[in-house]
Amino acid sequence: MLVWPVGRLACGLLGIGNEGYRMIATQYDGKVLTEVAGFSLNQLVAGYGSPIYLYDAALIRQRCQDLKAFETVRFAQKACSNLSILGLLKQQGVVVDAVSAGEILRALAVGYSPTSDPPEIVYTSDIFDREALEMVAEHRLHCNLGSPDMIEQLAAVQPGAEITLRINPGFGHGHSQKTNTGGPQSKHGIWHEQLPECLERAAACGLTVVGLHMHIGSGTDLEHLAQVCQAMDQCARMVGPSLKTISAGGGLPTVYRAGQSGMDLAAYYQLWDEVRGGLEATFGHSVHLELEPGRYLVAESGYLLTEIRAVKRMGDNLFYLVDAGFNNLARPILYGAYHPMAICPAPGRAAGPNQDVVVGGPLCESGDIFTQEDGGVVSRRSLPGAEVGDLLVIGCTGAYGSVMASNYNSKPLAAEILLDEGQLRIIRRRQPLEEMIASERSVWEATEPAAALR
Ligand SMILES: *Cc1c(COP(=O)(O)O)cnc(C)c1O
Repeated sequence: MLVWPVGRLACGLLGIGNEGYRMIATQYDGKVLTEVAGFSLNQLVAGYGSPIYLYDAALIRQRCQDLKAFETVRFAQKACSNLSILGLLKQQGVVVDAVSAGEILRALAVGYSPTSDPPEIVYTSDIFDREALEMVAEHRLHCNLGSPDMIEQLAAVQPGAEITLRINPGFGHGHSQKTNTGGPQSKHGIWHEQLPECLERAAACGLTVVGLHMHIGSGTDLEHLAQVCQAMDQCARMVGPSLKTISAGGGLPTVYRAGQSGMDLAAYYQLWDEVRGGLEATFGHSVHLELEPGRYLVAESGYLLTEIRAVKRMGDNLFYLVDAGFNNLARPILYGAYHPMAICPAPGRAAGPNQDVVVGGPLCESGDIFTQEDGGVVSRRSLPGAEVGDLLVIGCTGAYGSVMASNYNSKPLAAEILLDEGQLRIIRRRQPLEEMIASERSVWEATEPAAALR
């Protein structure tokens, strides 16, 4: 089930998914949107409150289809790790990576096998914290090591293991330090010049290097991708014939707004397939090609529904203030990320003509603005005229949305709902306020004797 039966011949089929992928966000951005997957947004909020995260299951399946040419698609679960989302991806034959003990727990909880070949769970990180290392040892997980120190740490608990090395090829991609995953300023991976030394260290403690991994983030730039491919090829030849798998990492783009373009998946596949083919010819055995997308699989499926609770003017700016904040969706404040937005008028109401507005949340923090650019510059967005009680829909929030949520300002985590072929499933209940404070205690009210704590 892990090996796509269509294999490398399906390349020509890839264009179809690509087209839909370029359109979705732009269809509703700046407009009126009253339904998702056939469900009335007003009814959803009437039934389950606000804010809520919605996921359209059909879109996740579609994105899985797009990538069928790749033998192994490994979901970077940090993008959206709800158990039901992982379960849905598992049904589609997608495997996972895990970057923490908690993510290992999630993968095991939905039934991924720790000991399959190729491994259904790979621990990928730049460190082993002690909790993760214990879990890796207990389940004998395959590990993708992003720092040289991890070699001896793993060998101590998993003698004779097969490992993957994550390489930083010496250059990165992306304009922001927060999203750049290569080059000398990145903390990720093993510096390319240190690969020979790491191969010796691995051999010295009895580990076999069977995989190489590069997660650079390629955007839509095929020239840059070709550079990454070349770097992979060079590193792979240093490892030699013990190498069984190369991983292209993640970074497949999502189109969040008009004017952005998606990746030419067929060209992307072809470049990596050439690297693989060349290595197979040299090593005389098959080499597995993995892809490790996060956002691509889930971003467009997600919508954050939130109610407009105040409309007010500040000088020249008109504000829509909603009941979701960066406690629910942090990408705008973290990276100045753009998300498409739409208005769903309350039942019986019609939206007004579009106007330029600033959209903000409820938090006591001036940065709690959804319409901001990199560096925190507040910008305006053209949205339909709206009133208190109308809904604001923030789109493309399926990746790095709910997973980055916090309890800041003591706001509970929002509910998450999966919409699938006419079925509605609550996949996370709204966090009860009591649960939010359940692991704390006030020592001033303590009823246990203080001795119990020593
Ligand atoms: C975050 C991450 C990914 C996924 O990145 P996307 O940009 O969401 O595709 C893949 N691999 C690794 C190692 C990551 O850290």
